[in-house]
Amino acid sequence: MAVIGHYIGGRLATTTGRSAPVFDPSTGAQSGEVLLASAATTGEAVAAAAGAFPAWADTPPLTRARILFKFKALLDRDIDAIATAITKEHGKTFEDAKGEVTRGIEVVEFACGIPHLMRGDFTEQVARGVDVFSARHPVGVVAGITPFNFPAMVPMWMFPVALACGNTFVLKPSEKDPTASLMLAELLAEAGLPAGVFNVVQGDKEAVDALLTHPDVAAVSFVGSTAIGEYVYKTAAAHGKRAQALCGAKNHLVVMPDADLDKTVDALMGAGYGSAGERCMAVSVAVAVGGVGDALMEKLVPKVRGLKVGPGLDRDSEMGPLVTKEHLAKVSGYVDTGVAEGAELVVDGRGLKLQGYEDGYFIGGCLFDRVTPQMKIYKEEIFGPVLSVVRVDRFDEALKLVNDHEYGNGAAIFTRDGDSARAFDRDAKAGMIGINVPIPVPVAFHSFGGWKRSVFGDRNVYGMEGVGFYTKMKTTTARWPTGIREGAQFVMPTTG
Ligand code: NAD
Repeated sequence: MAVIGHYIGGRLATTTGRSAPVFDPSTGAQSGEVLLASAATTGEAVAAAAGAFPAWADTPPLTRARILFKFKALLDRDIDAIATAITKEHGKTFEDAKGEVTRGIEVVEFACGIPHLMRGDFTEQVARGVDVFSARHPVGVVAGITPFNFPAMVPMWMFPVALACGNTFVLKPSEKDPTASLMLAELLAEAGLPAGVFNVVQGDKEAVDALLTHPDVAAVSFVGSTAIGEYVYKTAAAHGKRAQALCGAKNHLVVMPDADLDKTVDALMGAGYGSAGERCMAVSVAVAVGGVGDALMEKLVPKVRGLKVGPGLDRDSEMGPLVTKEHLAKVSGYVDTGVAEGAELVVDGRGLKLQGYEDGYFIGGCLFDRVTPQMKIYKEEIFGPVLSVVRVDRFDEALKLVNDHEYGNGAAIFTRDGDSARAFDRDAKAGMIGINVPIPVPVAFHSFGGWKRSVFGDRNVYGMEGVGFYTKMKTTTARWPTGIREGAQFVMPTTG
């Protein structure tokens, strides 16, 4: 049985004390035991990061970038091994796991441009003989607290940019699929990252609380559920830290009557059932506008019924199991609730048993029709392969649904009409919009973030927003002795 420990000060580290089982979701068998860091162990990781900070912050950005270039090459080399480790603990299909590592690599590629990205501003002669320049400085020790659903990509939304900016990092990954984080730590070391610059503490609330309250942690990036994200944001802020928390979602895809229905259905299949719906940008609500509902269902139902559900390492599987037994019970419970609330369950994936994998956490694709905004299955994030179809008559009703929902991560519209698309893009209250694109996760050189209760804080992750979050600005106003030769001046300097 694998013991999954921490990575502190350039070394794998084990601790005695609390631990938790890690399971293979496709078989339900325990595959490992993850150690849960105490506040003291978390403090050791912070101390390692704080100790490494001065030298790393002083390292020229180009030198830091060269380590990231090597890291990227090592990720390319080991992508299959990382993806396999993800599939074994998360359950998603191998190709999907490779996809998440690839999206993480794209952030590394962005961060390799740090000498340019961190370049400051200079204004000559703001007053006679006076120049002003601004430079970006790293903030210090940064903590990253990440969810189970992207054990490689979400940490890589954070640490490549944070490290490139000259910060040191303590990652607290999800305890449900902790192995990938250690693989990333070892590759960073192989790329030449000095000891202590990147650390991993496995753990749960105890480790998180230790990070949120530690005086040497300067900034906290969190990705996870809204309830925990709100707590993390408030606690970190109350302890004087810079904080950003990216949280839960209920993403709508609006289907206009003029949409290409075959393409829309393919988009809904991938976005609704890919990764078993365990994506913060999954589409969980399809809004059928103006009578398109019947035609949409006609094409959608056979595809949902035909979904190939199986273990993630089986190359034929389109959808793997859910992450844990508890999550399977929660998602099945939501489907029960939807039926009780009066939604029409057109495809029922509950109780799926796969031969040879009877103890795996599988559920088939579920499809509800005639869901209404009052229902719990509409209001709450289910985070499973459950798609709800809501029918409305007009575009403005669809837009109102998007805007009235408490979450505002992503929203998409499928249409051939530029006028509807433009109106949706301008007026939808969500942070990421897809026009004939179902999961509009921005590329690495833009930034990712939602609106409303899908986010706490004012900076998105990665891209220039990430550079902004992980640096603080210093602006210097300089006058050299020639200006003082005439003697002291007692009036406020002004332009002229
Ligand atoms: P989660 O909130 O349960 O866990 C996230 C992190 O917080 C983990 O590291 C976990 O160990 C820690 N944590 C859990 N309970 C805690 C507590 N009581 N106190 C302190 N820390 C605690 O989320 P999850 O189930 O791992 O991930 C799924 C959620 O993440 C979904 O809501 C999903 O929408 C969201 N998510 C959002 C984004 C985004 O960018 N908006 C991306 C991915 C996932």
